[in-house]
Amino acid sequence: MLKAILLDLDGTVYRGSRVIAGVPQAIAEVRKRGMKIFFISNASMRTRGEQAEKLKKMGIVCDIREMYNTAYATASYIKHHHPNSSIYVISEGGLKKEIELLGLKTTESENADVVATGLDPDINFEKLVKAFRAIYNGAIFITSNADRIYPTEKGLLPGSGCIAAFLEYGTRKKPIIIGKPSPHLIEAILDDNNLKRSEVLIVGDNYETDLHAAKKMKIKCALVLSGITKKEEIDKIPKKDRPDFILKSAAELPNLII
Ligand SMILES: [Mg+2]
Repeated sequence: MLKAILLDLDGTVYRGSRVIAGVPQAIAEVRKRGMKIFFISNASMRTRGEQAEKLKKMGIVCDIREMYNTAYATASYIKHHHPNSSIYVISEGGLKKEIELLGLKTTESENADVVATGLDPDINFEKLVKAFRAIYNGAIFITSNADRIYPTEKGLLPGSGCIAAFLEYGTRKKPIIIGKPSPHLIEAILDDNNLKRSEVLIVGDNYETDLHAAKKMKIKCALVLSGITKKEEIDKIPKKDRPDFILKSAAELPNLII
């Protein structure tokens, strides 16, 4: 039985700073029918508190415990697997703040035990050199996500995955990827909330991340056409790899829940 919806944010709930029409009402309606909602996002620029605030301003009620972005999930992964390490962080802010909020130790030294990367618009060669040397010398390499593209209202930007790919190429070491389509972010929700894979539905706009995560983990998926992936792209992929449901936008979610 379906108990919770794991709802992607960018391209699904909002586009940049604009909420997608009808989505706050759909979320409220789905909750009224007894369904839990968890928000999932590969973004690492904000803490989950800041991300929840953004939703509140759009008229969507969100408890911090319902918010799973990769800033939090990456910090949580490090706390679980490498609690006493010193961490060199490349990020706009959210990832570093979450790491510090969990009581972990960050460093500016290239002798770090762990390198954690997210999207950083102020990336420069000096930061890349530090991360490169740390990883080359044996540091654990973790990236919040491997997204190639980060869409904004002003146009496409290279995603966090491009920074990780730079370091991977130089060091020949593959990063541990926390965000979708890797299972870590979703597993954290299932573990924290005692949910089975058969009890959740992933709803997202990106074929490469949301749908691939769902298929890998054998979780049902609804693809919304309000973001990155277009209907024509879905028509081209083999039937078995297609989403279980296709919606114009998440405003149609109540139609899926009886
Ligand atoms: Mg998205």
